[in-house]
Amino acid sequence: MPKRDFSQDTKITQLGRNPSDNHGVVNPPVYHASTILFDSVEEMEARAAVKFDKGTINYGRQGTPTIFSLENAAAELEGGFGAFCVSSGLGAITTAILSFVESGDHILVTDSVYAPTRLFCNDVLTRMGVETTYYDPLIGSDIEGLIQPNTRLIFTEAPGSHTFEMQDIPAISKAAHDKGALVIMDNTWATALYCKSFDLGVDISVHAGTKYVVGHSDAMLGLIITTEEYYQKVKETTFHLGQCSGPDDVYLAQRGLRTMAVRLKQHQQSTIQIAKWLQTRSEVSRVLHPALPEDPGHNIWQRDMTGSTGLFSFILNPTPKAAINAMVNDLDLYGIGYSWGGYESLILPSNPSSIRTATKWDAEGPLLRLHIGLEDPDDLIRDLEAGFARMSSR
Ligand SMILES: *Cc1c(COP(=O)(O)O)cnc(C)c1O
Repeated sequence: MPKRDFSQDTKITQLGRNPSDNHGVVNPPVYHASTILFDSVEEMEARAAVKFDKGTINYGRQGTPTIFSLENAAAELEGGFGAFCVSSGLGAITTAILSFVESGDHILVTDSVYAPTRLFCNDVLTRMGVETTYYDPLIGSDIEGLIQPNTRLIFTEAPGSHTFEMQDIPAISKAAHDKGALVIMDNTWATALYCKSFDLGVDISVHAGTKYVVGHSDAMLGLIITTEEYYQKVKETTFHLGQCSGPDDVYLAQRGLRTMAVRLKQHQQSTIQIAKWLQTRSEVSRVLHPALPEDPGHNIWQRDMTGSTGLFSFILNPTPKAAINAMVNDLDLYGIGYSWGGYESLILPSNPSSIRTATKWDAEGPLLRLHIGLEDPDDLIRDLEAGFARMSSR
């Protein structure tokens, strides 16, 4: 049976490893390396000449078999040509953008973007003389009207951080390509398993591997996955920026990857159960989750993705801050903290209106973001129920 015929749940257990190269050991070895020794000056020179080719081993920063193993698995799973492991999800985003912009360029970034991406554009890109225009995440093909002659790229993220709007990525990609711009997608939420970004027209996909790939809240990692057309440019920029990742963190990501399909199934199922329960609560005005049929992004989600994961938000009816804090502070199973994608549940109060510039966020009440972990969903519901009781008694 040719390997490409396996389902992706099977592939995720196979990709990027080859035990027969390694005494039969199941998992790839963890190479700790800076210096790579060459047999001769001639060999050193030959490898330097191909240092930007895929798989060249030249110096620790530029990759080892441990790193290539994860890069190859990530690229193949999503349908890209090649991938790069970098220091963090944010490092993947900034490296991808910096691969393509120069002074005088313009980029378009969704107003629902992960907030540190915005801070990078507003600070570093502004200092470089690259202008950013934020656009309505729901813009679809109308993005065409915002593309200028110097627009180099369009940055997308679906669903949006904290607010979970779905973007019409195929329509945006078409408009971008018609005018010579390229498309980057932050695909962290759906992962390569539930969103084949390249099939939607995306040129570069970026991930916080920190989230579901690592899956256990114990390592930071970014992944950049590209088409063949853009591989070389990103490889060079990754080199110039000194981007790399530590071997032990890469190993944790490889280990996480093997169980990602089965973990995501549970995250998905528990999250839908809890989201539906929240829809029945009188304290809750709206649940923001594209896999719910009532969600405005549901049709796009159904068209473009094959599953949903554990992160979503809900909007409370108007509630005083002290009452929200009484709920959140004493939850037993939801930690208060940044990041997500681990086995544990998290809760985070958030105020999108303080971040946006292109669109107005004037929801009817405060927003809480949840990450649903791998605990029993009935326990998670009981914990929230007790929290709502504390909230109401304030
Ligand atoms: C967390 C996150 C990032 C950043 O990843 P880090 O590894 O924390 O730098 C980027 N995009 C999205 C959507 C995220 O949730």
